[in-house]
Amino acid sequence: MSVLDTIKNLRDELNQHNYNYYVLDKPTISDFEFDQKLKQLQDLEAQHPEFFDENSPTQRVGGMITKNFETVKHEYRMYSLDNSYSIEDLQDWEVRIQKVLGDVPLEYTCELKYDGASISISYENGRLVRAVTRGDGFQGDDVTNNIKTIKAVPIHLKGDFPEKFDIRGEIILPFAGFEKMNQELIEIGETPYSNPRNTASGSLKLQDSAEVAKRPLDCLLYFVIGNNLPFTTQFDGLQKARDWGFKVPIQSKLAKNLNEVFEYINYWDKHRHDLPYETDGVVIKVNNLQHQEELGYTAKSPRWAMAYKFKAEQVTTKLNSISYQVGRTGAITPVANLEPVQLAGTIVKRASLHNADQIEKLDIRIGDEVFVEKGGEIIPKIIAVAKRGNQEEPTKYITHCPECQTELVRSEGEANHFCPNFYGCPPQIIGRIQHFITRKAMDIDGLGGETVALLFNAGLVTNYADLYELKKEQIIPLERMAEKSAENLINGIEKSKTIPFERVLYALGIRYVGETVAKKLAKHYKSIDAIAQASIMDLILVDEIGDKIAQSVVQFFENQENITIIDRLKQFGVQLESGADEALLSEKLKGKTFVVSGVFEIYSRDELKKAIEDNGGKVGSSISSKTDFVIAGDNMGPSKLEKANQLKIAIISETDFKNMIDG
Ligand code: AMP
Ligand code: ZN
Repeated sequence: MSVLDTIKNLRDELNQHNYNYYVLDKPTISDFEFDQKLKQLQDLEAQHPEFFDENSPTQRVGGMITKNFETVKHEYRMYSLDNSYSIEDLQDWEVRIQKVLGDVPLEYTCELKYDGASISISYENGRLVRAVTRGDGFQGDDVTNNIKTIKAVPIHLKGDFPEKFDIRGEIILPFAGFEKMNQELIEIGETPYSNPRNTASGSLKLQDSAEVAKRPLDCLLYFVIGNNLPFTTQFDGLQKARDWGFKVPIQSKLAKNLNEVFEYINYWDKHRHDLPYETDGVVIKVNNLQHQEELGYTAKSPRWAMAYKFKAEQVTTKLNSISYQVGRTGAITPVANLEPVQLAGTIVKRASLHNADQIEKLDIRIGDEVFVEKGGEIIPKIIAVAKRGNQEEPTKYITHCPECQTELVRSEGEANHFCPNFYGCPPQIIGRIQHFITRKAMDIDGLGGETVALLFNAGLVTNYADLYELKKEQIIPLERMAEKSAENLINGIEKSKTIPFERVLYALGIRYVGETVAKKLAKHYKSIDAIAQASIMDLILVDEIGDKIAQSVVQFFENQENITIIDRLKQFGVQLESGADEALLSEKLKGKTFVVSGVFEIYSRDELKKAIEDNGGKVGSSISSKTDFVIAGDNMGPSKLEKANQLKIAIISETDFKNMIDG
């Protein structure tokens, strides 16, 4: 088999596995096997740039930067939907339809109304050619690079697809992925996203498609449009789209009459909370396409379709009290304690109040009856006051920390109040140590979050450096501790001294320094001392470090207590610089990004990449506006060449490169 055949086979195979996993939700191989095959393909493609294909599964990781999203006219306009809120509304609608069509029997396709951002994707000869946002319905933004990173979106179709068509759908963020994203934000002290829908629609307009690729987005399709399509009803259209490889939810149903439509609505009104994603209603469509054509459109929406909006589930209950939680970073979050009440299948006792502004805006007071709603957010929220209780004064936000009584501060532009008592406020101290020991940080075996609280309450630790001075005899007397568990704990702490610098940096819990930022900083500065000495200006020059992060880093190292703690960590032998193998030969290529393409004589491709990194440069995987140089060998792929020329990126030979680092 030729190399090209091997590459093609791997691509087909990986496409099929993506389909099994992301569309059918039925993977047939393990993640590990998948990664191995992907790696194999990546290697082959790297050795043979002449076989580059922008539609290869390896390109799903993104990396293309879109500075300005090009405006594109929709070939078929993207309409809105009329809304209905009751059975009567739908009955009236049917009467209007029959006025146009006469007294013919009507079937309807019932679908869920997916709550995300609408998208129109064009296919030609079975290949994805363009994806465009709805925009104003006539024209939208070209977001093709970003959409291609969503693995449920097929790049190649299967089966008997039409030569050219558009398909419409919704980009959504399922609850589970949304929660995971928020968990990561909370971990680094950032404000979580407010709901899945806005997060999904915001994702489409991110400039860096590699960022989009990291988000667990999904794409649900509901409408095929084009000329000479091989079906005559909406319902068959959905089935056909499924056959071609699209993700079309199986909950869609054919209703023989309006009564069956009502049954569908009632069923999903009750069961919609069991779905893994948000839906705010049902869309009902006249099934026969001939009928659809006769009915046509109003100025804004098709006459043959109707959205039925579920009532957001809402109850009233009493606000018993407001408590204020103090997070690891000192951020204060007010929480409403409610009289327990049944809502959307669960008992609700608490609701988020976000911050002081929110309390003021709602003007809620203790003792009020309040409306509570469960929308896209996981935690229910208070919508408004239903009935005023007997509290005559507006709620006064706390001025002092409930845990340590320090006066709170609120900086300009911050939504939340903060307790500035970084070193004396128990939840902050405990939270920081708990963060320090987590799996992604120092991964200390035998030490859990509760034990940290025990150690703190017993006066044994007040910061993470204290962990390294713990003695077995001090631990054994603690609740639920014994000889063996104390020993495990001490061993776990000892072992953490081998954790590499980048993870130690993350473990320190500097605000806004999450895993990725810690890696970037560690790679760039190589030691804690170098980071401690960097100014805001220096830091901003590092790839992907913005001023918010830079400021937070500088602030951290301005604090003498932090310096003392870090000095102690150093003495205990914790890794506070990168290992020797990561040291550089020179910094001649500092700040420059290279893309390597083609076959070379002086260097092998791997040697070339190593030489770039050893001299402080970066190796990019694909040509983008961030690329500074393309090192071209023989047989550089024509599309890469074109791309480089288009972006006016310098193309150099390996000899040029050698001169750069030797000269
Ligand atoms: P609206 O934004 O309220 O006018 O509702 C229209 C939007 O609902 C469309 O633009 C689609 O993005 C979205 N939508 C969600 N699910 C469906 C569906 N099954 N069929 C048609 N449109 C849908
Ligand atoms: Zn405090």
